[in-house]
Amino acid sequence: MDRRKFLKNTAIGTGALSLLGLGSVAQSCAVQRERSHVPSQGWVNEPARQIPVIGSVDVLVVGGGPAGVAAAVSAARCGVSVMLLERYACLGGLWTGGIVTPVLSTHGLHKNGSWTKCVYGFSNEICGRLFDLGMAFNPKDPSVDPEAAKYVMDLMMDENGVQVLYNCTASQVVMSGDRIDCVILECKSGRVAVRAKAVVDASGDGDIFSRTGDPFRVQKNDIGAMWRVGGIEESVKLGTKLPGKGVRLLHMKGETDQDGLDVFNISRLQQKHRKVMWERTQELRSREGCRNAFLLETPGQIGVRTTRVLEAMRTVTLEESMTGVRYDDAIGFSGGSATIPYKGRKITKKERPIWQIPYGAIVPQKTPNLLVAGRCFGFDEGLTWDAREIATCFVTGQAAGDAAALTVTRSNKAQDMDIAALQEILKKQNTLLEI
Ligand SMILES: Cc1cc2nc3c(=O)[nH]c(=O)nc-3n(C[C@H](O)[C@H](O)[C@H](O)COP(=O)(O)OP(=O)(O)OC[C@H]3O[C@@H](n4cnc5c(N)ncnc54)[C@H](O)[C@@H]3O)c2cc1C
Repeated sequence: MDRRKFLKNTAIGTGALSLLGLGSVAQSCAVQRERSHVPSQGWVNEPARQIPVIGSVDVLVVGGGPAGVAAAVSAARCGVSVMLLERYACLGGLWTGGIVTPVLSTHGLHKNGSWTKCVYGFSNEICGRLFDLGMAFNPKDPSVDPEAAKYVMDLMMDENGVQVLYNCTASQVVMSGDRIDCVILECKSGRVAVRAKAVVDASGDGDIFSRTGDPFRVQKNDIGAMWRVGGIEESVKLGTKLPGKGVRLLHMKGETDQDGLDVFNISRLQQKHRKVMWERTQELRSREGCRNAFLLETPGQIGVRTTRVLEAMRTVTLEESMTGVRYDDAIGFSGGSATIPYKGRKITKKERPIWQIPYGAIVPQKTPNLLVAGRCFGFDEGLTWDAREIATCFVTGQAAGDAAALTVTRSNKAQDMDIAALQEILKKQNTLLEI
């Protein structure tokens, strides 16, 4: 990418560049390179101040959604110390907090014409644990109980020695040269920093790569919601059945072309969608078999599909995925989840070929100790639907965690990864690399 395009993409706004001296971190700076997504009513300079460094870890994972959880567990299994920061009070991101319970894209169309499972590894492990608890349905697109998923993820953090900090929002980075030295977070303990040798951005919104100056694009999308209702009789065809008697998952597509980084907008939609969820549930009561319908749960996390998407070392495209391109640096496969447009016709999920994900798609162009996983890794717009499904997030998360651990243990740059070593670890962790 040339310099002009890079600067256009990262849009350094007036007054938005701040330097922050931080105690012993000589020549470090915190860099804010993105224009505000809300109208500003003027600018104020934030005074420089010292803040405490509350921890030092090998790998810091920002965001505890499907991608972050997979990254944290996988990195820890490589023998490095791991901390995970989560802005809410549970793990799972949209999977649990957004009540998006079906794990899609685990299957795709094999060359031999069969609808074949293509995602194993962490995805298989966590869904398997939920099946064992009787808290998941349907092996092809597992639909899980969100509370059981939160419980299992907490257990997995504990079992693997991951330090989880809840109610912490990562807000800024402190760079040392081109590397991230610390991540600054806001929490009840104040504004504090964590020092890390490598960072995985699993925030879903690129909250870290947008601060490091790595290139990205902003992709607006529908902002919708999922919610749970109870009291539905067994025979009624409505939504997706979930564990629990009479419990169903309902879906609202919401408004199209929305900015999920505009706090006024997401607050407006949160209120609007909650009202609709209440009203639709009341309306259900006039329907046969739904007389006892009640609103069981609305999502604490609004349904933002895409915001920032990384301009990675390599962008994986819909065309590549449809034509079966294979990569030397493959980190896993993904499948299909919905009907998508391709070359003027609609491809159903059963026609969707299994597609491969290259390592380059989770690597930012600039920062050597940063990996990116989940719904903001490097894919083109056509691939948006399948690239951000939960099983795909597990795949990119697992690889990002392993790669982050390798950058620590081998003093590597993410851009200069020992691919054979990474693939060896992935295979040991039951990831499918050939099909
Ligand atoms: C309405 C809707 C329906 C969907 N339906 C399905 C479906 O049926 N099946 C399917 O497979 N997929 C579905 N998806 C897509 C899927 O849910 C998401 O793409 C997936 O959960 C993304 O995972 P992630 O880990 O990348 O991000 P998220 O799930 O968004 O998790 C990111 C986590 O990071 C945390 N975080 C964010 N910023 C910070 C920060 N600065 N500091 C600390 N923590 C932070 C968040 O709180 C969150 O926990 C749907 C999405 C939507 C919106």
